[in-house]
Amino acid sequence: MHLSLVCHLRQRLCLVAGGNHLAETRVHQLLQAGADILVCASELTPGLSALAEQQQIRWNQGRYHSGLLKGCWLVVATTSDQTLNNQISRETNSAQIFCEISQQQGSSAVLQTTATVLPPEMNIPSPGAGEVALVGAGPGDAGLLTLKALSCLQQADVVLADRLVSDDIWALICPATEYISVGKQCGRHSTTQQQINQLLISQAQSGKRVVRLKGGDPLIFGRGGEELEALAAAGIRFSVVPGITAASGCAAYAGIPLTHRDYADSLRLITGHTKHAASPPFLSGISPSQTTVFYMGLQQAGDIYQQLTAAGVSDQTPVAVIGKGTRREQKVSVGILHELQQLCKDAASPALIIVGEVVRLQHSLNWFSAGQNLI
Ligand code: SAH
Repeated sequence: MHLSLVCHLRQRLCLVAGGNHLAETRVHQLLQAGADILVCASELTPGLSALAEQQQIRWNQGRYHSGLLKGCWLVVATTSDQTLNNQISRETNSAQIFCEISQQQGSSAVLQTTATVLPPEMNIPSPGAGEVALVGAGPGDAGLLTLKALSCLQQADVVLADRLVSDDIWALICPATEYISVGKQCGRHSTTQQQINQLLISQAQSGKRVVRLKGGDPLIFGRGGEELEALAAAGIRFSVVPGITAASGCAAYAGIPLTHRDYADSLRLITGHTKHAASPPFLSGISPSQTTVFYMGLQQAGDIYQQLTAAGVSDQTPVAVIGKGTRREQKVSVGILHELQQLCKDAASPALIIVGEVVRLQHSLNWFSAGQNLI
């Protein structure tokens, strides 16, 4: 079992033992991370030589010796000499320096110990010029965060987050990071969208690296688009890190393939709330081989039932209601459209409704049981 680490390496000394192509790959990653790089090797690849000439890295020509460890934060060993790698591993261990042993085998690289070197997704802003990363947190299971999302979170000065972000994800954020909750609850908006936009702008204008963290994917029913429009209008630099949306996360953890050649050839994602009305948008043109997923639909179960049946969907169509999907408390209730209101009444929020023939597969493909799976 390895613990993945995100290292802040800006201006920190990193020793790369080896001058081969693997070393060159690592050097590029370390350069992106802003590290101070010393390479020790008797020979360098042409790419590394060029970097040494441009003084982007320093080259200590010759074999590794323990004297080079002084002041190092991280050592990356890429040599093909197993005995030397073992020596580096032992010596870094006793000096309490993180070490990654990478070996070239044929054309593929093998990592023996893992130290994840993530390039900074956000550049250190020049004074007064902050930036915002709009980051998707996925549906709940912290393991579904992307590496980019994690990297942004760990570099943020301030995180503005929704209520939908799970405690497990909070646990990954450095306790010293400033946190502003802008959670919205159905029918109870603690912070208005306008206020959130203003906060994002003012935080970035004060020079901070701001992460706007949203459940699922920030651009799927997450108002992320509106926030980006406000940032663009204010001239704030921004980037977007997509996340796993509730439909894919919940369906996967419930054992429901959203499409399947025998059951569904298309998929639509629908919100139970629109900006101007508290009922789902008018549903037209539904085909029996389509999977329909409703976000924010619990309170609208009656309307959803009415609209679907009015659009010609049989009330015997299988439906699933997934509460707290991908989390330990996930609960999946399966029935037919006729029972939708009852299923929704019993569900815990947040919940997703899946309507379509694919739901039949849940019975045989259901695999998730918290704490008992490989993942
Ligand atoms: N941007 C988010 C959706 C925000 S709308 C995304 O891409 O997933 C909020 C709705 O998403 C909730 O009302 C619910 O319908 C759904 N949702 C989010 N997380 C969920 C979860 N863990 N389980 C079930 N539904 C979830």
